[in-house]
Amino acid sequence: MDSYLEKFNSSIKNTLFDKLPIEMQEFIKQKSLKLRFTHQEIKQIIDISRDLSLWDEGSIIDIFPEHDQKKVVFARLKKAYEELRCKPNSYKDFELKNIPKEQKFTFATEAKEGFGLGLCPVASEKTRCCNLLTLDAVESCGFDCSYCSIQSFYNQNTITFDSNFKDKLKNLKLEQNKTYHIGTGQASDSLMWGNREGILDALFSFARDNPNVILEFKTKSDNIKYFLEHDVPKNILCTWSLNTPTIIQNEEHLSASLDKRLKSARALADKGIKIGFHFHPIVHYEGYLDEYAEVYKRLLNEFSSDEVALVSFGTLTFIKPVIKQLRERDFRTKISQMPFVDAGGKSSYPENIKVEMFKSAYESFKPWHKKTFFYLCMESHEMWAKCFGYQYSTNNDFERAMLAAYAKKLDIDFFI
Ligand code: SF4
Repeated sequence: MDSYLEKFNSSIKNTLFDKLPIEMQEFIKQKSLKLRFTHQEIKQIIDISRDLSLWDEGSIIDIFPEHDQKKVVFARLKKAYEELRCKPNSYKDFELKNIPKEQKFTFATEAKEGFGLGLCPVASEKTRCCNLLTLDAVESCGFDCSYCSIQSFYNQNTITFDSNFKDKLKNLKLEQNKTYHIGTGQASDSLMWGNREGILDALFSFARDNPNVILEFKTKSDNIKYFLEHDVPKNILCTWSLNTPTIIQNEEHLSASLDKRLKSARALADKGIKIGFHFHPIVHYEGYLDEYAEVYKRLLNEFSSDEVALVSFGTLTFIKPVIKQLRERDFRTKISQMPFVDAGGKSSYPENIKVEMFKSAYESFKPWHKKTFFYLCMESHEMWAKCFGYQYSTNNDFERAMLAAYAKKLDIDFFI
């Protein structure tokens, strides 16, 4: 056997080569035999092929340069790929593929080690962070948002409840003269499971027993039945992650529609529960500014700033495991078709795109400035000044300002 063919066959091991259509496999093999690509180059060519089909941008065969010199071919191929990656992506003719109509998962209840309370998993000193504490009431999520990093942490098909959750929460000893901000929407959706395994009973009791805790339920669901049927302690905040209908339909699979999310928020606000909205991720695509502006306008029209404790903005930041997971899936998404720059070890949009999206978002809520708390999530210190016109000099300053604003809106005591 030609020694290069042996090298090629070992290079494609542990890659996504077998997931490529046969004609594409044959094409890459023939080009490799002719041009003698290195192991790394073969891996990149396979990843490029996966990305093009993921983004519904044709095949690598369409963009493969014709030339005898490998160096020239590889450089031109990378250039063509980067041009496709960086062009503003459009959902106009985008067709979804293999999106499940319903998520099939199994439930598991087991005695979990430790207690899922800790600092926000994506917080970093490289970004201006609010020191949120996250509480993992449930592991893994039933929605299927293409950009979500949870998918790389947990087994997607098993939703796990901690059989000792209630007792652990009851035995949690917190300082009395300190205000805490604890969120339950990081490791799963806070509301989609309702009171399964008594998690909402336990969390409501915890909030009642700890009036100095601001307990935030974050959701993309419309499952508010428990909140409508029970007295809700006033130190509870209910927040919705929102996006444009285009992104909800094409990237936030199985989650509630924008209308359903806003209708649920309206229902809880009518019951006097303080609510909030997270625009995270704001996604850059053709016509995005106008489409987001429509959603911002709806909030200003359908809610009053008295009812809304917070509005936050954030955008896509990818860690390598999520990119790998996206390429492994046989579906379509435009979410990773974006210009990437390094953002504290993760990949995100270049600064100019971020400033455009965050400035437009913040300025759209002018009537609520000074009445509702606005913040950028997981962004650099400087981004605040560029988009909001002010910034916090430390994470603790940011946290203090946030908790003071929330406590005032919730009408609860605030301990510095
Ligand atoms: S700003 Fe965002 S990433 Fe940072 S701690 Fe708060 S919620 Fe987490």
